[in-house]
Amino acid sequence: MNEKSIDIVPLVDAHCHVGTTPHEIQQPVHELSNDKISRALMSNNPYDWARLQLIQFKKGNNSSPQYKGFGIHPWYSHLFTFKNEKTLTKEQHYRQILNYKESDSIILTKLIQDVLPDPVYIEEYISNIDFSNVNLIGEIGLDKSFYIPSNGFYQGHSNDAEVIITKTKIKVSMDHQVKVFKRMLQLACDKSLNVSLHDVNCHMKLFDICQQYLLNVIPIKICLHSYTGSIEFLLSQWIKKFTEQRIFISVSQYISFKKDEGNLDYSQVPHKCILTETDYIVDNGVTEISLQDSLEDTLEKLAKVLPLGSSHETRRLVFDNFCRFMHNDL
Ligand SMILES: [Zn+2]
Repeated sequence: MNEKSIDIVPLVDAHCHVGTTPHEIQQPVHELSNDKISRALMSNNPYDWARLQLIQFKKGNNSSPQYKGFGIHPWYSHLFTFKNEKTLTKEQHYRQILNYKESDSIILTKLIQDVLPDPVYIEEYISNIDFSNVNLIGEIGLDKSFYIPSNGFYQGHSNDAEVIITKTKIKVSMDHQVKVFKRMLQLACDKSLNVSLHDVNCHMKLFDICQQYLLNVIPIKICLHSYTGSIEFLLSQWIKKFTEQRIFISVSQYISFKKDEGNLDYSQVPHKCILTETDYIVDNGVTEISLQDSLEDTLEKLAKVLPLGSSHETRRLVFDNFCRFMHNDL
């Protein structure tokens, strides 16, 4: 492959975000550079979904394919209710789905009064989505380690430097997280859309639920973003059951390659399953160059461990894999 043809193979960011900025959604339509990076942009909640819808991409010869994900991330699952709001007060909703000690009851009351929004009825939220605008379902999943922050939900950074955001000891119940996750998998099945999954310390539970919902829905492919399970679990469960045609591992610089050799032995992962990602918020002032650097660094590290000869060949492989992931051709 000569330098020129390498240059036109886009870098792949198979899992990244736009900002959750509740007070700045109605900004003018903004454009995101898409010359060098092909992206799957996730949404996690109603705020970043509103923002993602406003993003436009350049069309033309130099543009790389861009995709939009619709999801409810476990860090925002408490903002949704399965009951029509008329049958449940805001206070009842949050007290039912959050786990807290009696000693934190006053903190919770303050959260509900001061920062948590009225819950969104999930069926109404889904029914208002124009799915012609959606290319995959994500980010969705389960998180056993997540605590509600003192500003009610994670918002990247606060504009108000005076406000110090801390972690509370209040968690979203696993039952509620599972309910939201299952609803989103059902949606993926209904719409025949692939999924991008978040899993922190819920490896078996998440795998079991995916088997239950997705195993027999053959066109659906699964991206395990910043996978933190073991190589054994990946090979003997995910890939064995779903086959290597349907499982993708998207590898990031800051989680997967915190150590130079990687968080797991990537040489054992089938090459066709490998994707790259930043998991960064890409529309909040981060430069295009730093995003490219992060992806190129990940490719270099992958090229060393796979081993595929050069990071250029790895770049081609990852782009081919991303096309297979997004385009439903097995
Ligand atoms: Zn993410």
